Amino acid sequence: MTRDTSFSSLPLPPPMQANLQQLGYLTMTPIQAASLPLALAGQDLIAQAKTGSGKTAAFTLPLLMNLNPRRFAVQALVLCPTRELAEQVTQEVRRLARAEDNIKTLTLCGGAPIRNQLASLAHGAHIVVGTPGRILDHLERETLVLDALNTLVLDEADRMLDMGFAEDMAKVIEACPKARQTLLFSATYPEGVAKLAARFMREPKEVKLTERHAASKIRQRFYEVTDSTRLHAVGQLLNHYRPVSTLAFCNTKQQCRDLVAVLQAQGIVALELHGDLDQRERDQVLVQFANRSCSVLVATDVAARGLDIAQLEAVINVDITPDPEVHTHRVGRTGRADEAGWAFSLASMDEMGSVGRIDEMQGVASEWHRLSELTSPPNAEPLRPPMVTLQILGGRKEKIRPGDVLGALTKDMGFEGAQIGKINVNEFSTYVAVERGVADKVLRALNAGKVKGRSVKVRRL
Ligand code: ADP
Ligand code: MG
Repeated sequence: MTRDTSFSSLPLPPPMQANLQQLGYLTMTPIQAASLPLALAGQDLIAQAKTGSGKTAAFTLPLLMNLNPRRFAVQALVLCPTRELAEQVTQEVRRLARAEDNIKTLTLCGGAPIRNQLASLAHGAHIVVGTPGRILDHLERETLVLDALNTLVLDEADRMLDMGFAEDMAKVIEACPKARQTLLFSATYPEGVAKLAARFMREPKEVKLTERHAASKIRQRFYEVTDSTRLHAVGQLLNHYRPVSTLAFCNTKQQCRDLVAVLQAQGIVALELHGDLDQRERDQVLVQFANRSCSVLVATDVAARGLDIAQLEAVINVDITPDPEVHTHRVGRTGRADEAGWAFSLASMDEMGSVGRIDEMQGVASEWHRLSELTSPPNAEPLRPPMVTLQILGGRKEKIRPGDVLGALTKDMGFEGAQIGKINVNEFSTYVAVERGVADKVLRALNAGKVKGRSVKVRRL
């Protein structure tokens, strides 16, 4: 029997159906097709699926259906492991909630000033998305009240436990009304998650997508290296396959640092994501990677945790991880939605045991290629990202919105919309991606011109 995977098979009102169409959501992803009929019928749900499988809509549509927009109280709470994920979820919730007027969604995470959050809370919200620690903080201050809550979502439950949130989560869940729908999403299903479910869920239905990744979409290739050729091999891979965005995993911070130095020396734009960055630096790295002005993001598994990147042409395992589950997660970052992706792994003789375990877990023999096959055309330019990021000093605090910047660039300064990429407005800064070829011109025009009637300071990152 084939399951109907069109959203129109679901009991959703016409405005919601129309909005999904507008968003380009034509058919359900497998996890959505498996979980939405159950969740929309009010069942508690434990859903297991990998990153990028469309879990956000799988819990957002049910929580929206449970919501009464005329009731001005928090009716849904989504707990996420990191601020970045919470912000991504909030954006997706807002897009999906557009079918209804005036549904307010608020993000509450650590790292942002409590004071601003208090003001937002005082204005009221229907949906709150946040990290367990900060949510608990607000519950203890009684600035967040969950009496009217009817849907609780635990997104990436396994990661929240990994990050040490078990106790905070339990306290938050206990502050929720007993009569509620609980939806739990997790990439893996370790014992801690099972315990959490047993303690806090009501006869949950389990939905599990055993299918690992759509094997056809991710092409995996292994290359044998020695420790002295390993870092150089990364540059060879990049110049041969020329992926626009690559996530490179190393097993240690030192390896990350060394790789970034080697790549930068080759003229490749590479940035390291590590735990010692402060929030502003981390934001800058992620913005540059997401807007396609950085070719390679180099990270350890810990630093890359919680990262959700829409477009990723390649993952490179600079070192082989000893844990085959971790390998599967790394590789699963590419080839998302309907796009194809590459996964390259560099292995030395010492790592062949780990490769064997990966083969065993994936149920297929790894495909080996030789570094000598990697050629870049003679006189080829080193890989360059298509975009450059300009930083405008001034952001939400100055009430700058993406439309203001785009308007200034296209209407006042005469640039083409197609030359301008993503515009990210943060609290104190705005980041504008522009095509590399016009970056200097845009920089000069912005420094000489005005945004929202005001002169601005702009620099190239
Ligand atoms: P996950 O939480 O499982 O990692 P997301 O919910 O963030 O995945 O979805 C990944 C991407 O796929 C998002 O950009 C989202 O907008 C898109 N997406 C989700 N469901 C669909 C769908 N049914 N059709 C098209 N795109 C979708
Ligand atoms: Mg998600």
